[in-house]
Amino acid sequence: MVYNEVERTDRDEMRSMQDERLRTTVEHAYENVQFYRDALDDAGVSPGDIDGIDDISLLPFTGKEDFRDHYPTGLVAVDREDLRRIHASSGTTGKPKVVGYTEGDLQLWGEVMARSLVTAGVEPGHTVQNAYGYGLFTGGLGIHMGCETLGANVIPIGGGQTGRQLELLSDLGSDVLTCTPSYALYLAETAEKEGIDPREWNLSTVVIGAEPCTAPMRAEIEEALDVTALDIYGLSEIVGPGVSMECEAKDGLHVWEDHFYPEVVDPETGDPLPEGEEGELVFTTLTKEAVPVLRYRTGDLATLTREPCDCGRTMVRMSHVTGRSDDLLIVRGVNVYPSEIESVVLEFDEVAPYYRIDLRRDGQLDTIDVTVERSEAFDGDDEELAARLRDRLQTVLSLSPDSLDIAPPGGIERTETGKVKRVFDHR
Ligand SMILES: [Zn+2]
Repeated sequence: MVYNEVERTDRDEMRSMQDERLRTTVEHAYENVQFYRDALDDAGVSPGDIDGIDDISLLPFTGKEDFRDHYPTGLVAVDREDLRRIHASSGTTGKPKVVGYTEGDLQLWGEVMARSLVTAGVEPGHTVQNAYGYGLFTGGLGIHMGCETLGANVIPIGGGQTGRQLELLSDLGSDVLTCTPSYALYLAETAEKEGIDPREWNLSTVVIGAEPCTAPMRAEIEEALDVTALDIYGLSEIVGPGVSMECEAKDGLHVWEDHFYPEVVDPETGDPLPEGEEGELVFTTLTKEAVPVLRYRTGDLATLTREPCDCGRTMVRMSHVTGRSDDLLIVRGVNVYPSEIESVVLEFDEVAPYYRIDLRRDGQLDTIDVTVERSEAFDGDDEELAARLRDRLQTVLSLSPDSLDIAPPGGIERTETGKVKRVFDHR
């Protein structure tokens, strides 16, 4: 089932729609945003040079720093009185990235979110327990609007309140839960501690997002909650959640490319990469009014494919984002992604699916300390377990951690609201 027939559009037709929408977007950005007028002028490109998608690489990139440099509303292309909503990203350093929406933008967002929910198997009348945070963060309200657009019954509980979440999952018979993958695991763990069996719930699906999730982590969630877990992707600079969504084929996430055009580029040079090669995801909005965005560099690493999908949707698919180019840790000259450490942790039943990475600098030398958590069921020897983990990490990372500590069950801090923090870089 699809929410909108456009999801099965013939590829040639899609391309001509994108060509036309790109021309309009470039004109709109050039006419109404000083930043884009300057950037295009500097690149020696005029809106008239852009006939369609084939010319997209002539356009300059937009970066995170451009949102910050033009804080708060320098990238807004419409009059203030035409804005209907403002969201902002939770910037960990400096000013947040502020984004605005017109009435049309909110409708568009509701539509792509409704498509995403249907792609996850949600139907009108289903009850969706929305455990993403409400507020300036786009997660909560984005999912919420999608439920309303679709005609699903949304429970706006937001993040945290784990006891209440469990109570509502039992008492209201929620069909679908939406939350971060780390929180899904935490809910499962808390349920187990309290003697609650998720198999007695009505819950069939968890829509996970806002954090990267490795395949073993997803399997862990599906097993622990007895559900299908499907990945949703988005970012506030483009619209919020609902830029792309994984379908039941579990073979990548369909990008709603009639509104958001994806490219993959070499993270170092910015050169476009051929289909199938991994690189940095870049998005251009094709219909946004308040904040049109040209070639936004997400920092997320993925591949794209236009091969037909079993679900019948024709829209391009992106692979799961397992790392961000800015997650990359360089330790003594070796490239390490936290997701690689996660995959090792999840291979071992003797440890819980939690870990912590601490990076320090000792003189000129980087040090990396990994802490994992013994699972309740494991009653073997910690030192012997640590040695096996260390061996496995050496094989996967080509680097052995300086220390590998095994914490007692519950010894690693859990995240109940917001995004999980696993890497602590003290350098
Ligand atoms: Zn599909």
